[in-house]
Amino acid sequence: MVVLRNCRLVKELTEGYEGLYADVLLTEQYISEIQPTGYAFVGEYEELDLQGKTLLPGLFELHAHLYGFIYNPYELQAMSVGKITFGAYAFAKAYLDAGYTTVRDCGSSHNCVAAIRDAIRQGIIGGPRLISSGLIITPTETGNDTFRDLYYEADGPEEIRKACRTELQKGNDFIKLMVSGAFMNEGADPGIQITELDEVKAAVDAAKRKGTYVAAHCHGTEAIKTAIKAGVRTIEHGTYLDDEVIDMLKDRKDCFLIPTGAIGLYCLDESNQDVPAELLEASKKCAAIEIANINKAYEAGLRLGFGSDIDLQAFLKVPGYEFIARKEYYTFRDIDILLQATKYSAEIAGASDTLGTIKAGKLADLVVVAGNPDEDIYVMTKPMIHIFTNGKQYK
Ligand SMILES: [Zn+2]
Repeated sequence: MVVLRNCRLVKELTEGYEGLYADVLLTEQYISEIQPTGYAFVGEYEELDLQGKTLLPGLFELHAHLYGFIYNPYELQAMSVGKITFGAYAFAKAYLDAGYTTVRDCGSSHNCVAAIRDAIRQGIIGGPRLISSGLIITPTETGNDTFRDLYYEADGPEEIRKACRTELQKGNDFIKLMVSGAFMNEGADPGIQITELDEVKAAVDAAKRKGTYVAAHCHGTEAIKTAIKAGVRTIEHGTYLDDEVIDMLKDRKDCFLIPTGAIGLYCLDESNQDVPAELLEASKKCAAIEIANINKAYEAGLRLGFGSDIDLQAFLKVPGYEFIARKEYYTFRDIDILLQATKYSAEIAGASDTLGTIKAGKLADLVVVAGNPDEDIYVMTKPMIHIFTNGKQYK
């Protein structure tokens, strides 16, 4: 058992305890008690004095591509399975080093994430909790060659069903489906819908049969509406959403928007040699629209998930990239950014029974930061002081 003494808690991220400061007891993999400071716990335990530093629930990343340990998709295509797998593992570790104790991978090649997930679960290697989609399922479409190794091409409900069943058979946790074009795919149009309603429905049904869900890649307005109507659980990106989309998503407990701010900022960085001129141009054109739309969805009170969609090099270059994006690219309030990175994302990932807040009985996935991130979100761009996963101190 470990007692974390003198923890500063954030009210919005804590359940079942009222005070600002507390001592928190960890027993095996759980948070077992939250008590006023100085409490005499029963039994033998180690102590760690946080001296008033803030204790947060472990962070969630809901839109990662772990295989992307470098940006260039063509270089990745040329790599061996082994190289990709070790690269993806390096990315998973980098996430945990930054306090992300749960990472949902929205598409990686060679089924590497399911393998890494299992190795972590078995204790063979250390790392965050991983949730894996395997390959991204997509209809035949212009630009697919950019991510040839990442896609499972399937057309019509029958082929889509087969593709979903295959990815789930390989041990993946959910389905990632392209419903609109993509910015990064050469020659593609992110504004158009590329998948028909009956195809999205086929994916939703195949996922439901296995007790899981579909995450839909959607930029274009019609694509977003089609995905929501078909019953997907998450709308990834949501760039061209409109008022009707906000109405469709309002107060829903089974369908959520996951904006990806960091990739938006990344693609606007003119100093970045990796971003092709065409992509830079397209990003400049849509940035103002995307920012306005996502801010509107936020102000309407939608519970937004926390996703970044960036490669490992970008992740390492800008610590706290998604926190910065949500503060400066979108204009969210600090406490809401924290809620998105923890409690809301846990709900969206279907993990709120065990994760997402600090509560007795939940799993001890925790991070300690130096400062008050609920008042100054830039605290989240600094190195984490401590990281716990499953009750074990990682850092
Ligand atoms: Zn993505």
